[in-house]
Amino acid sequence: MRPDTPAEHIAEAERLIRTATRYPEDQEPLLLQAAAHLELGDARERASTLYDQLLADAPANPHLIKALQAANLWEYGHEAEARALISGIRAAAPTDPAPWEVIAEALEAHDELEASHECFTEAATLLTSEDTPLTRATAALLTGRHRVRRLLGLPHDEWDMVADTRHSGPIPLDELHDPKRIWALGSDDPAELRAEIARLRAELGDRRAALSRPFPVAILHWPQRELSELVASYPTLAAEYPSHAAHLAATEASLRALAASGTTNLGIVTGSVPSYEAFAASEKTSPASPSLLAEYATTLAARGKATPWPPTPTTPCWCTSGKPYAECHGDASGAFGG
Ligand SMILES: [Zn+2]
Ligand SMILES: [Zn+2]
Repeated sequence: MRPDTPAEHIAEAERLIRTATRYPEDQEPLLLQAAAHLELGDARERASTLYDQLLADAPANPHLIKALQAANLWEYGHEAEARALISGIRAAAPTDPAPWEVIAEALEAHDELEASHECFTEAATLLTSEDTPLTRATAALLTGRHRVRRLLGLPHDEWDMVADTRHSGPIPLDELHDPKRIWALGSDDPAELRAEIARLRAELGDRRAALSRPFPVAILHWPQRELSELVASYPTLAAEYPSHAAHLAATEASLRALAASGTTNLGIVTGSVPSYEAFAASEKTSPASPSLLAEYATTLAARGKATPWPPTPTTPCWCTSGKPYAECHGDASGAFGG
């Protein structure tokens, strides 16, 4: 069950904080995700305390945590502290795209478009070059920069063209990022303009929601031997898993459906019977309960155990068949191998 109401987000945050005490080695990703849920549950002060706690503990990603903290602080009225953190991050010039995107979007969210544009441009200058292929994260910087430049009414430059070319959504980037499109077309219908602005806002909202959850949505995969043992030990789970081949096909199909519905940052987590049983024990639930499977997947993902999906066409398929993804579960015809 994915948390939806503020109370559910807070309950999920508390569950993740408890989990963090059991897996100290995975504490940072677990607490970061807990903080994201606290933010979504509108418990911003508690999120702030958690970010401070993480920062005090020599984290692996101090700039990302500071960036998230800045965005969070600014959201509940601590603008001066937020600005100080943002200046510090810009001065430190981290080589990870994520903190740049978070601070540039925080500035954008508070209508500091010039400063947001400067941040995106500094990051793109620092992290992209002619000989470095764009990653999902560096391409996202160019997309954000494209959006802010349209809001500023600036002309396209070379990076904007790259952003346009890379964009693969159903609506072209220029259309998505142009709130004045209807005026340009000569419309004088305020309802059309409002609809266009609503569409732009929705796109921004989606991006921010994705950023506040910088963690993969992960689907659970069981290797063949583990699945046999699982179903033999807990026959109530057989309804979920009629066969191993069906399980693999369903895993790929779920991920494709999520991708088609616009979910980014997808991943696969691999289950094992002993770790699943230990998880059930820690949650004081029976492993035979089918509803535990999704929580197990979420917790593995929160512990940083997810492998990004999809693999590239030529890398070995996630199902461990040894075949390239494109010739296995990535077969475009949908005729799953394995
Ligand atoms: Zn464009
Ligand atoms: Zn496969």
